[in-house]
Amino acid sequence: MNVGSSIEVIKGVGPATAEQLKKGGIETVEDLIQWYPRDYQDFSTVSHIADIEPGNVTIKARCEAISTRPVRRGMRITTATLADDSGKIQAVWFNQPYRESQLKTGDEFVFSGVFEFSYNRYQLTNPSAEKLADLSKSDSVLMPVYRTVQGVKVPVLRKLINQLRPLMASLPETLPNEVVEGDNLMSRSESIQSMHFPESSKHLARAKERLAFEELFSLLLASRLNKNEINSLEGYPIIFDQPTVKNFVAELPFTLTDAQKIAAWDILQDLERSRPMNRLLQGDVGSGKTVVAGIAARQAQQKGYQTAFMAPTEILASQHAATLSRLLEPFGTRVGLLTGSVKGKPRQALLAAIRDGRVDVVIGTHALFQNAVDFHKLGLVVIDEQHRFGVNQRQALLAKSQKMPHLLSMTATPIPRSLALTVYGELDISILNQKPSHRLSIETKIWSPNSREQLYTIVERELEAGRQAYVICQLIDDDVDKELKSVEAEHRKLRAGPFKHRRIGLLHGKLKPAEKESVMAQFSAGEIDILVSTTVVEVGVDVPNATVIIIEDADHFGLAQLHQLRGRVGRGEHQSYCYLVTSSSAKPSRRLREIEKSNDGFYLAEVDLQLRGPGEIYGRAQHGALNLRVAKLSDSQLIQRAQKSVDRLMATGFDLIQYKQLQRDVEKYQRLTTLN
Ligand code: ADP
Ligand code: MG
Repeated sequence: MNVGSSIEVIKGVGPATAEQLKKGGIETVEDLIQWYPRDYQDFSTVSHIADIEPGNVTIKARCEAISTRPVRRGMRITTATLADDSGKIQAVWFNQPYRESQLKTGDEFVFSGVFEFSYNRYQLTNPSAEKLADLSKSDSVLMPVYRTVQGVKVPVLRKLINQLRPLMASLPETLPNEVVEGDNLMSRSESIQSMHFPESSKHLARAKERLAFEELFSLLLASRLNKNEINSLEGYPIIFDQPTVKNFVAELPFTLTDAQKIAAWDILQDLERSRPMNRLLQGDVGSGKTVVAGIAARQAQQKGYQTAFMAPTEILASQHAATLSRLLEPFGTRVGLLTGSVKGKPRQALLAAIRDGRVDVVIGTHALFQNAVDFHKLGLVVIDEQHRFGVNQRQALLAKSQKMPHLLSMTATPIPRSLALTVYGELDISILNQKPSHRLSIETKIWSPNSREQLYTIVERELEAGRQAYVICQLIDDDVDKELKSVEAEHRKLRAGPFKHRRIGLLHGKLKPAEKESVMAQFSAGEIDILVSTTVVEVGVDVPNATVIIIEDADHFGLAQLHQLRGRVGRGEHQSYCYLVTSSSAKPSRRLREIEKSNDGFYLAEVDLQLRGPGEIYGRAQHGALNLRVAKLSDSQLIQRAQKSVDRLMATGFDLIQYKQLQRDVEKYQRLTTLN
């Protein structure tokens, strides 16, 4: 038996158990070894019943009597008398009738819960109960508590893990020796044994540290190798021409912020190198990313290179096309818009112009990278509102260009520092941490659905002053299963009642592209007062005259999404307002309270990472698969240590090939972190 063996080789695993284990994600011996406990029961704090005081308690006891009775509809109470040698205590569970069959066996259990005064007496409320015999048989005071695998009883799981102890004791080291020693880490074998059979909490902490370190180390090493790979690609050096850029900047209708100047400088420096740029421009909504990309495009064009500018939606693509034509065409830069709705003859003509180099900047959606689009000399690719550019897309680009074009990705969803270092380590990052001056911060308020009238009065006051408003709903049409608001119903309602006298527009993803565009154009031109929309307006839409945004059922949106939506207002010179209407009058969630409190996208991103974890934020497919078992991406101290260790090791010219297991992990991470 070795770690790679299928789970069936373990004594006591029959076909039925094997099938259940596999369904639960445990296919090999190694998977089982890495089925680390989700928690530990601390026996050093087990109390005698006679000694316990109100608060959290853990006791070792038998159940003497137990019964369940209904109290009212949908509520059943199970009460039990628990006893040890020192005394007796009452325990109570709500809606957990299975406790009866669990506890009637006469066995000894470990109960953990809150001992408190309620219903006129002291009792243990909803305690957890683990059969003592099921807990690990070590002499330790810490008993591992395992996540259950459906269809496999906990004692069975424990028995199997116990059987693997000799194998754990002989597991080889995976990290290079100089890392284990240099970073004063526990050996891998000892750490894994300690996870399952901890000697003490101190020892366990060292074990967790070691295993978390290894995960971060592999992830950071993968990032580093990806970066080296990109650096070895050949690109087009585009030499910075100062007069060209100075001229362009001088003609802008505003002065660049310092942050914009620094970012533009970083980019112009990158363009000069013969290795392709791979830079992420992060800047909160409204921080002015587009013009920074415009500067780069102008420089590329001046040296005879084309720029492809990719936007996530058609609405945004047309908006960028309008903005960039206004900025660039005075300098003779020719701008084209290629989306799905450019069809027939005009499309053919545009494609020909792109191929012959008669268009310098092509703006479009994903359609830009289809086979039919051939560039004359593509030097720069700008990707708006997308985190990164994957291997596949890079290859598609290389096919369109002899060398690798420079890449600039732009995003308004800030990436927390720890993620930037680990998962996104191959990117260079520029940050626009400054809003264009004289911009007022947006006033945000959580609003109860019961005081909608007052809210509409506030909106009316803004419209009266010539401003415009957004109303955002989750759904497009009514869904009987969901109690959420839909844009269609809301549009009808506002038109019939409170805003009869106003021009109200409707926007959602199911409209035809031409319809969407016409609605957006009307809203931009001020011909619509209130735009009722789904989240299709979430990214990038820029209408500076809009000053109010009402987000209905706000508690059903994610933090990043709320921040993005809020960014639709506060883009001009007027004070703007965001109202987060909750779907019930229940206490608002931490998410809503945070967004009410802060306008700072970077702060909110950190909160989001804390609240949800990276998987939820940056796409399950990618980060769910990172499958960090022990490490936390919020542990910035350990990340820094692992980073230093990677740097030290790389400086020694080390070769991964000598470390089979590490190489396997690193390659897995390399694939995961480069793919979209
Ligand atoms: P985002 O970073 O959200 O993409 P945009 O590039 O759409 O932001 O810019 C938002 C608005 O701010 C645009 O109307 C743009 O013209 C304007 N803008 C950009 N930079 C400045 C600046 N330095 N001073 C004033 N307004 C600016
Ligand atoms: Mg933008």
